[in-house]
Amino acid sequence: MKVKTIPILSDNYSYLIIDERNKYCSAIDPASPEEIIPFIEENKLKLKYILNTHYHNDHTGGNLELKEKYKCKIYGPDKEKDQIPGIDNLLKENDIIKIHGYEAKIIETPGHTAGHIIYFFKDHKILFSGDTLFVLGCGKLFEGTPQIMWGSLLKIRNLPNETKIYCGHEYSKSNADFALSIEKNNNKLIKKSEEINKLVNENSFTVPTTVEEEIESNPFLRADVQNIKKNIEMESSSPEEVFGEIRRRKDNF
Ligand code: ZN
Ligand code: FE
Repeated sequence: MKVKTIPILSDNYSYLIIDERNKYCSAIDPASPEEIIPFIEENKLKLKYILNTHYHNDHTGGNLELKEKYKCKIYGPDKEKDQIPGIDNLLKENDIIKIHGYEAKIIETPGHTAGHIIYFFKDHKILFSGDTLFVLGCGKLFEGTPQIMWGSLLKIRNLPNETKIYCGHEYSKSNADFALSIEKNNNKLIKKSEEINKLVNENSFTVPTTVEEEIESNPFLRADVQNIKKNIEMESSSPEEVFGEIRRRKDNF
């Protein structure tokens, strides 16, 4: 399964899944057509599907223009069907869709928005995580409580360790700085943060990350880890409370 990363807008990532044999492609959250179309045209591809993770305009803003040009079909969360321009196919928890012969399982991850979904290509262990999980970070809780978002993040934590994660934004550098403020005594995090700094300095992408690396280093997936609880003096609190506190600190970082 070939994934092409296309940085768009100021700090978003869109992705193309490419079917080289049949010259088709599908796009995850292609919000900026002028930055997507040149690649599609240069490679003589045809856009078959758009996969949206949630309704925010920096993810769905390209839907109508691309649909008009390529007559592609648009997938998105059932719960946000009224907010996603041009949506054709409504998705919910555990649905399986076939994209160029690759099966994706739909996982509902409310918290950033109430209807947010992520796409897990299980045979290839590839996850498109939208604005639920970022490299060393997670989405802001616009439409969910810490309890709800923690539940969503646990679903990602339970995926196979080697799963590659492609997220919706390049926030890795500031996320790493924040993560170190929570857990500066985590050697895996120190190493990951050095790798991120190097990639950013080279102007390279910091995606994909992996489930394993995020479990080892991402404070938002580690709200039930003793080292974190100790560092922020919440040793007797629940994971949901610890997660909520980490999220609050990040909002004010
Ligand atoms: Zn968003
Ligand atoms: Fe976004």
